[in-house]
Amino acid sequence: DAAPAPDATYDGLRLRGLTKSFAAFTAVDDLDLDVPRGSFFALLGPSGCGKTTTLRMVAGLETPTSGSITLAGQDITYAKPYKRPVNTVFQSYALFPHLDIHENVAFGLKRRKAKDVDAQVQEMLDLVELEAQARKRPAQLSGGQQQRVALARALINKPEVLLLDEPLGALDLKLRRSMQIELKRIQTEVGLTFIHVTHDQEEAMTMADTVAVMNAGVIEQMGSPAELYENPRSTFVANFLGQSNLIEGRVLSRAADLVSVDMHGINVSVPVDRSHTDGDMGWIGIRPEKVLIGEPGEALDAPGNTIPGGVISDVSFVGVSTQYLVRMPWGQELQVFAQNTGRSRLFSQGEPVELSWRPEYAFLLDHAQDAR
Ligand code: ATP
Repeated sequence: DAAPAPDATYDGLRLRGLTKSFAAFTAVDDLDLDVPRGSFFALLGPSGCGKTTTLRMVAGLETPTSGSITLAGQDITYAKPYKRPVNTVFQSYALFPHLDIHENVAFGLKRRKAKDVDAQVQEMLDLVELEAQARKRPAQLSGGQQQRVALARALINKPEVLLLDEPLGALDLKLRRSMQIELKRIQTEVGLTFIHVTHDQEEAMTMADTVAVMNAGVIEQMGSPAELYENPRSTFVANFLGQSNLIEGRVLSRAADLVSVDMHGINVSVPVDRSHTDGDMGWIGIRPEKVLIGEPGEALDAPGNTIPGGVISDVSFVGVSTQYLVRMPWGQELQVFAQNTGRSRLFSQGEPVELSWRPEYAFLLDHAQDAR
C-alpha cells in the first residue's frame, strides 16, 4: 500500500512509512504514527524493539532508510538536528560539571546570544522547582534534581516536541515514582508534546495519555492506558501491560456482542468487537484481579462465567491483595488476585475452589492475530 501523503493540516508529529535498516536488519519497519500536538505520548516496548532508533530519527540523529517525518505539516525528515524544533533529554543527563545549575540551563541561550537569558533561566528553574539550587554544581545535586536540570535545559529552547529517552532509568524506584508525577505536572504546565521512550509499562501507563506498544520494529497497538489494559489486541500487549491469564478456547457461536466459547469443555461468554468465525481457535484473556474465587458451588458472580474444579496450588499474601495460583482441571495454572478487604475469606493450598468472572471483563484474541 502506498503511504498516505503527509497532511499539511495535521498539527502534530506524523511518521509515515518510517523505516530504518542496519545492513540486512530492519530495526524500524514501515512505521505509521500520529502523535497529537500537546500530548504526553509513550513509546513502550521491550529492549531492542526499535524505540530509540525511532526517537533518534525524530531528533535527526539517525537518517531514515525510507519514509517521512512531518511536524505541523512541515517535512523534517532530512532536516539537521539543530534545525528542527525538537529537543532530547537522555538518561545520562550530561550536565557540564564545572558550571553551576543556572549556567548549565543558560548555556544554549547564551551561545545563541538570546535576550533576557537570566529571566528565562529563572522561569525554567521555577518550573522544575530548583530556584534554590541555582548556584550549586551538578555534583551537589541528587539524581532527580540533576534530571530536572537536564529537563530545564531542554525546555528553555522552547522546542515543539520534547523527546525523553528512558530519562528516569538511572534513578532508584522511589525517586522514579516522584519524578513521574513531576514530569507529568511539567508537561501539563508547558503544554508541549512529550514523547517518552521506556520499556517500563508502569511508567508509560502512569504518565502518558497515549501509549504506543512497539514490538520488533512495528507498533502492535496504540491507545489510552485504560484501552490497552482493558482491550489488548494481541497476547504480546496483554502480557506486556500487566498480567493476563490466557486460556485456549474454540468459538462456538456469536450473539450480538458476545461470543460463546468452548473453554476446555466449559461454555463461557466473551465480548467481541470484531469478526470471529465459528470454530476459530483463540485465547480467552482475563486479568487476575477480575477473577473471583469462591467455594465450590458458591456461584459468586452469577450470572457470570463459572469455572469449577480448581485447586489452590499457591498462596502469596502481598498486603493489598492475596495472590493465588489455581490449578484447573485441564492442567493450567491461573492467577487470581483477591483484594484484601479484611472480610474476604482466605483460601489455603490444596483447597478446592470455583472461579468466576463477569463476561465483560474478558477479552478474546484470535490465534491468527499472533501468527502474523
Ligand atoms: P533499548 O530499550 O534496549 O534501548 P530499543 O527498543 O530502544 O532498545 P533500538 O536501540 O532502537 O532498540 O535498537 C533496535 C535494534 O536495532 C536493536 O536490535 C539494535 O541492536 C539495532 N541497532 C540499533 N542501532 C544500530 C546500529 N547503529 N547498527 C546496527 N544495529 C543497530
